[in-house]
Amino acid sequence: MMQFTGKSVYKGIASGPIAVLRNQDGQIKQRVIKDAEAEIERVKAAGIQAGEQLRKLYDKALEEAGECAAAVFEAHQMLLEDEGYLESIYDTIRTKRVNAACAVQATGDGFAEKFDAMDDDYMRARAADVRDISNRLAGILEGHGEKEPVVAEPSIIVADDLSPGETMQIGREKILGFVTVHGSENSHTAILARTMGIPALVGVPLDLEELHTGMSAVVDGLEGKVSFEPDEELRARTEERMEEEREGRRLLEAMKGRESVTKDGRRVCLYANIGSADDVAYALENDAEGIGLFRSEFLYLGRDSFPTEEEQFRAYRQAAQEMAGKKVIIRTLDIGADKRADYFGLEKEENPALGYRAVRICLKQPDIFKTQLRALLRAAVFGNVSVMYPMITSVEEVRQIFGIVKEAQAELEDRGVQYRLPEQGIMIETPAAAMISDELAELVDFFSIGTNDLTQYTLAMDRQNGKLDDFYNPHHKAVLKMIRMAVDSAHGHGKRVGICGELGADPELTETFIRMGVDEISVAPPMVLRLRKAVRELDGVR
Ligand code: PEP
Ligand code: MG
Repeated sequence: MMQFTGKSVYKGIASGPIAVLRNQDGQIKQRVIKDAEAEIERVKAAGIQAGEQLRKLYDKALEEAGECAAAVFEAHQMLLEDEGYLESIYDTIRTKRVNAACAVQATGDGFAEKFDAMDDDYMRARAADVRDISNRLAGILEGHGEKEPVVAEPSIIVADDLSPGETMQIGREKILGFVTVHGSENSHTAILARTMGIPALVGVPLDLEELHTGMSAVVDGLEGKVSFEPDEELRARTEERMEEEREGRRLLEAMKGRESVTKDGRRVCLYANIGSADDVAYALENDAEGIGLFRSEFLYLGRDSFPTEEEQFRAYRQAAQEMAGKKVIIRTLDIGADKRADYFGLEKEENPALGYRAVRICLKQPDIFKTQLRALLRAAVFGNVSVMYPMITSVEEVRQIFGIVKEAQAELEDRGVQYRLPEQGIMIETPAAAMISDELAELVDFFSIGTNDLTQYTLAMDRQNGKLDDFYNPHHKAVLKMIRMAVDSAHGHGKRVGICGELGADPELTETFIRMGVDEISVAPPMVLRLRKAVRELDGVR
């Protein structure tokens, strides 16, 4: 038996034969061409063909895995039409006089390398998308047709890396799980795995040469382990755990449509956290009662210029409309620290988590802020939208924000555009905000406690630094005291208070939070039904 550890992207268990997919790259030959314009025309024709392939994959994904999974192929189509990407290919053909496939490959590698070198996990994950689309285009240009990974029977797919395209081509029914040497938890393939409920591990230090199709394996997404040729004992234990998991899932399904209410009648709103309007479908699939945190900064990432007011308006309106009257709390831009976009021109800082980020950027660069506010105010007409401001530390900041909101309103009025001023709340995620929450509660409509940042700033421990895992204690009394303080302040002024950090999904704290009086808890979509079950089992908390 061989055992390896990796990063789990979906916490399920799978057992069965493996199918090893080996890289088929490196077959593109460089040729010198005479007619650059003719070669560019070939790229354009290949682009049309690739677009058709992606549309088919989109339909397949939509049917088999829902809208969130299908959105991956929409993103690839956008990349296929990206001017910067295409111009770089054309430029390589014109200046280097190389064949189209070679220019596509070089451009894809160049873009992917840039993404790979970025600090941000989300951006690094985009490297796989560029490689995927470039391989597709180059394959068409070289006449390879569509590379269909061959998987004969339902298997655990083992590969160096796996693109979303390959994953969909294999088909959900043939994938028991997957294990890759590379890849990140934020890659689109990982998103697909989560959406489709496929037990999966990435970043597993395997040597593919030691494995072959047909060997057996067990993927344990709960412990982040994969075992090849498992012994009898592990096989039997795995069977038992899989049965328990199936039973658990049946129980969770039974939670759909039920009220989130304790045995003694205390009602809590259970919402979902999302990063894009397309994730709304995922939240609804998991029966979320609203969106408690729409991290709008993701709209600003993975691109090389600011999203326009119109683009943002469409995304926020989509979320509001799809939630059909349910609450959608959209957080304004929380860029900076670990979430960076080059076009903001942010300087490198000694302490980015303590630096120029979130609302600080919005107050210093009000034009960026106002564009987003106008989009939000316009989208508020189409549903139950609330706006929330991150990283607040003082009353003055809130007053300044309200001043800028007034300016945004005036601008919309001048333009004669329809808008609505939504409810406005703040995140309590700095110790400063928790300590003055009594004053802040007077000013705003609601609080949402960001326990991720509140923990890092209260304990003075970088949430990104794996070396601090042994010290990092989000159950620390100091953090819980801050949370209680914020809850009491909000209620003292008759305002609502929620939790939207990861701690909201911690089952050990559900009872504590409900006893404190937290009105809403917002968690990752797959956690909503688990939390509902935990809430419904509580008693004596009124
Ligand atoms: C938080 O800090 O708890 C939070 C929800 O915001 P983010 O994780 O996006 O910083
Ligand atoms: Mg935060």
